[in-house]
This record gives sequence, structure tokens and C-alpha cells, in this order.
Amino acid sequence: MKNCRRASPTVRPDVSVVSTLAVVIALAVFVIDALTSLEIAAGVFYVVVVLLVASAGNRPATIGAAWGCVALTLLGFVMSHYDAYSGGAIARCLVSLLAIATTSMLALRNLAATAMLHEQVELLNLAQEALARSTAELAHVTRITTLGELAASVAHEVTQPIAAIVTCGGAALRWLNRPAPEIDEAAQSVTQMIRDAKRADEVIQRIRAMARKHDRLPATSNLNGICSESIELVRFELERHDIELETDFAVPAPTACCDRVQLQQVLINLIMNSAQAMLAANGPRRLRIVTRWFDDAHAQVIVQDSGTGISEDDRGRMFNAFFTTKAEGMGMGLSICRSIVEAHGGRIWAESPDDGGAMLQFILPVDKGRCHEQ
Ligand code: ADP
Repeated sequence: MKNCRRASPTVRPDVSVVSTLAVVIALAVFVIDALTSLEIAAGVFYVVVVLLVASAGNRPATIGAAWGCVALTLLGFVMSHYDAYSGGAIARCLVSLLAIATTSMLALRNLAATAMLHEQVELLNLAQEALARSTAELAHVTRITTLGELAASVAHEVTQPIAAIVTCGGAALRWLNRPAPEIDEAAQSVTQMIRDAKRADEVIQRIRAMARKHDRLPATSNLNGICSESIELVRFELERHDIELETDFAVPAPTACCDRVQLQQVLINLIMNSAQAMLAANGPRRLRIVTRWFDDAHAQVIVQDSGTGISEDDRGRMFNAFFTTKAEGMGMGLSICRSIVEAHGGRIWAESPDDGGAMLQFILPVDKGRCHEQ
């Protein structure tokens, strides 16, 4: 998902300006060549006409200009020397013709090379677009796969508020069915029901955003908020595996110009990897998520775990596509994380602290008001 910059073709001069200028120069050379008695090979200056037309990048026009210059040279020769064809005049005419022919050939060869270059640039642009499309598709597929892996969490997140709504609904009915209905108590239960319904709706919105095919436009986003939302999506997963979570968020919260859903995808990937590494390590399961200011221009997010840690060898290749040490792994998670972070102008890397575990971290340029508000 790298921000692909289209390779730009060469800027060509305006055709009408070039043709007018070429005609004016050709006429001027013709006048000097045919109507003056200067004993110079003035026709050599026709090469300027050929080069000028060639600069517009039009092959047929360049060939036409070359033949036109040859014709004008011969006409000029006939007109100025019709009474006496001296050896010097013939030689000057031949030099001019030779200059025009050589220049035209070189200009045509140059045009062919430029056309080939343009074709290659076009192919490169198409390849870049195809790559960007496939990376976006892949990111989408991985998001769906991640949601599949989170199925238990997702189901829990949605069923919990729904179960609470049912309980509160029952309670409200009981308060109302009393011989002396307890309106205040019933109202409290209904308020609770509304709160739970909103919670369920938020969870569904988050899941729908993750499952959506197309990403949204980048917007000014609060990184602490993105971390909290991602944690909410995996919270049940963490609880289920007795993973102790500690957060340490920077105040004021760093903001970055980013696609919220893509960033959530990065965080969920990192958290799920940490969870798996901690399950494999059979030790204490501690996960720490930190946001902080890296420097004036960058915010940093750190996901640190007490898992297996990362060997020196793996640290260099774990972000490569298809690298995995897991039996069921795809090896795409970190590669997509890297594409997303780099597309946002950031950098992602991994460290293995001396006291064990892994520390995956990325930095993003902080938003300096270049992005639209969300
Ligand atoms: P997958 O999870 O399918 O293997 P990833 O690209 O997400 O693909 O991860 C690639 C590899 O990086 C993992 O197989 C694992 O070896 C290593 N890795 C990633 N995160 C951690 C971590 N927190 N601790 C230890 N190893 C990790």
C-alpha cells in the first residue's frame, strides 16, 4: 500500500508555437541561402528546424520537416546558382544536405528511444497501480481473516450487551407489574437498556468498519483513541488467555493523519501476535501498550509483550511477506503492517529487550493540520 507516485512523462513544448517558429526559421534560412550571394552553406541552419520540430515529439512531422528542408535546400541551390553550378556551390549544397540527413536520423532515433521510454513509464505506472490495488485487496483479506480469528471476541462483545438488555428489560417489566408500579426503578432499567444497546451498536459499527472493503480517507486521528478501540476489539481474547494489560498513553494525545481502520488493523495484528507469542512462552503474560512522542515530528506506539522474544535472525526478516514460524501462520500480518505504516510516512521495527519478550513499535508523522478533521 505504498503511496505510489506516478512516473511523469516528459513535458513537450506547445505544437503550434513550435510549428510557427519552425516555419519562420525555415523561411529565414531559405532567404539567406537562395536570395543572398553569401558563399556559405546556409542550408546547414535547416538542422535547427528539424531539431525544433523533433522537440515536439511527433515522428511524422519530423520526417516531413526533414524532407521539407531538403527540398528548400535544393530549391535554394537551383535559384541562386541556376546560371553557373560551381564546384564550391555544389559542395556547400551537399554539406547542407548531409547535415540535414544526419540530424534527422539522430532526431528520429532519439524520438524512438523516447517513445520506448514513455511506454516503459506507462507500464511502470500500470504495474504500480496494480500493486497498490493488490496490496489493498490483501489488506482487506487479512482484516477479514483477523476478524475470523477474533470470532470469539466479537461474539462475546455483541452478546454481552444484548444479554444485559434482556436482563434489564425483564427487571423493568417486573418493576412495572408490581401492584404499585415503581416507575423510577423501571426508568433506570430502561436507561441501562439504552446504554447497552448503544454499546452493542458501537461494537457492530467497529466490526463493520473493519470488514469494509474500501478504506476511508485519511483523517486527523487521536492515536490513544485508536489504541483504545483496538483493545476493545481484542479485550475478550486477552481476558480469555489471562493476559494482563497495561496501557500508558501520552498526554496530550498524539494525533496523526491516518486511516483509522488501517491503523486499528496494525494494532490488532501486533496485539494478536503478542498474545500468540505469550501463549507459546508458558510464562507470565503481560502486554503493555504505550503511546508517546518520539520527537517533535513523530508519535510512537509500542506493543510490548512477555512472550518468546525474537531471535536476531528473525528480526531482520519478520516483516517480509510469507515469513512465519507458526504452523498455521500466513506470514502476511507484519508485512501488511509495514505497508500501512510506511504508506502513512512512518516506520515500524521490532526489538527484543534484554529482560525477554518482544517490543514491536512504529512511529508516524504527527498531524500538522494537513489532514481533514474526522
Ligand atoms: P504470522 O502471524 O502469520 O506468522 P506475521 O507476519 O504476523 O505472520 O508474523 C511473522 C512472524 O514474526 C511470526 O511467525 C513470528 O515468528 C514473528 N513474530 C511476530 N510478532 C511476534 C512477537 N510479538 N513475538 C515473537 N515473535 C513474533
